[in-house]
Amino acid sequence: MSAVHEIEDRLIDIAGAVNVDTGADINQDATHDEALTGVPVRPRAVVRPGSTEEVAAIVRAAASEGVPLTARGSGTGLSGGCTPVEAGVVVSFERMNRILEIDTANHVAVVEPGLTLAELDAALIPFGLVYPVFPGEQSASLGGNVATNAGGMRAVKYGVTRHHVLGITAVLGTGEVVTSGGKFVKSTSGYDLTQLVIGSEGTLALVTRATLRLHPRPEFSATLLAPYASLDEIAAAVPHVVASGVGPLMVEYIDLVSMAGITANAGIDLGVPDEVQARALAYLVIVLESHHTERLEEDTQVLAEMLAALGALDVYVLPDQSGTDLVGARERAFWAAKANGADDIVDVVVPRAAIPDMLATVNGLAADTSSLVVGCGHAGDGNVHLSVWQSDPEVRHRLLHDIIAAGVSLGGAVSGEHGIGTEKRSYLADLEDPVKLDLLRRIKSAFDPVGILNPGTIFDPVAAHAEVR
Ligand SMILES: Cc1cc2nc3c(=O)[nH]c(=O)nc-3n(C[C@H](O)[C@H](O)[C@H](O)COP(=O)(O)OP(=O)(O)OC[C@H]3O[C@@H](n4cnc5c(N)ncnc54)[C@H](O)[C@@H]3O)c2cc1C
Repeated sequence: MSAVHEIEDRLIDIAGAVNVDTGADINQDATHDEALTGVPVRPRAVVRPGSTEEVAAIVRAAASEGVPLTARGSGTGLSGGCTPVEAGVVVSFERMNRILEIDTANHVAVVEPGLTLAELDAALIPFGLVYPVFPGEQSASLGGNVATNAGGMRAVKYGVTRHHVLGITAVLGTGEVVTSGGKFVKSTSGYDLTQLVIGSEGTLALVTRATLRLHPRPEFSATLLAPYASLDEIAAAVPHVVASGVGPLMVEYIDLVSMAGITANAGIDLGVPDEVQARALAYLVIVLESHHTERLEEDTQVLAEMLAALGALDVYVLPDQSGTDLVGARERAFWAAKANGADDIVDVVVPRAAIPDMLATVNGLAADTSSLVVGCGHAGDGNVHLSVWQSDPEVRHRLLHDIIAAGVSLGGAVSGEHGIGTEKRSYLADLEDPVKLDLLRRIKSAFDPVGILNPGTIFDPVAAHAEVR
């Protein structure tokens, strides 16, 4: 019997036959995530554990057989991070989706990794609390969010996932279980393993529990839309908005082509007059929130005047429904790009003030390669999302390399929030400091000495294995 068949039997012993799929029973969904360039891979088995103990037993079995394991949350990732390995096993967390505790005195929730953002949000509403990290896809799981350090539109106010995870329970590549952090906000007690695991894309440990920081839920919000004649003017306005003291919840820019695409895709008309639309090359969308309606009105007024003074062609305070529709359409920008045949997406992050330089370089690179590159992004935190239309894979690869290299040379990083996964690892290998990459591999081998956790994500799989054997 081969190691893979032995592992199948052991998985059934651990999780029960009903929670192990093999061969033709494996759902196509388990073979890929949402990365546009991803190639689906059929694993040998999918297992759905029900507890930390079962996860630990699965990892011990896989480690003893040298069988690769790929963690899977909801499969909404955009970098191929949960793409399985052939002859490997997918560990799907869909059964581990409970809220274990909502602690209103400490403002924390303790959750299992398969819980989705939408489920957590619905459960927090009656308590007047919110988990404020808001990546655009609410069907994403908390485990996937932790593993990718998910960000999203509210990062300008609240930060990203790593600012809201106070503790985790996780299973190392040896099958050992570690608990790090807890219901407290400060700790200087050795290396911070919670922060190391956040953003590690399933390569260091399988997260089986997370303690999340919650906030009081503001009741009132307002959405402002400001068309501008150039992106440079938006970039110049953003630092003033951030420094204004109104504490915006979202500060998003949307270029002309993307705005046309996402509003058409969502079937919404924002009522911007034709003569303003004709002059607008980009839009700034700002959402404010408050616990007090009078305070919100004052902040909205201050901000509208500020935007007008900072060169906006006009400023619209959208009716509630239009504001919700626009933010919803912006969330679905990826689906609009996909529906229109985009070949790839870029998620580079630069210092906020470098956005104009970044976009000028992008325009030049697009023209040089006869590619279409358009986008929108989290202007408040320098995260530039680009959709790329270039059907020649070699030209596209060179274009993406040069775009990401431009971001890195402006003081940025390869990925702001989507992660490296399998699809962006060649760019990381080319553009990241080799000393740092080597240290990352050595950290991986400390957590996962046999190299079974998500091989092929972040690093080249051969190099990762060679390092640890
Ligand atoms: C329309 C759309 C909009 C999006 N917008 C944003 C956005 O604004 N900001 C943003 O940050 N992301 C965004 N994303 C990307 C995606 O939603 C996030 O990366 C999300 O965190 C992935 O969660 P998931 O449960 O789908 O994870 P998966 O795709 O299942 O997995 C993602 C990674 O996490 C690992 N993983 C999953 N569960 C565990 C676990 N329990 N332990 C260890 N590793 C685990 C996987 O192995 C993989 O490497 C968007 C995606 C879509 C489709």
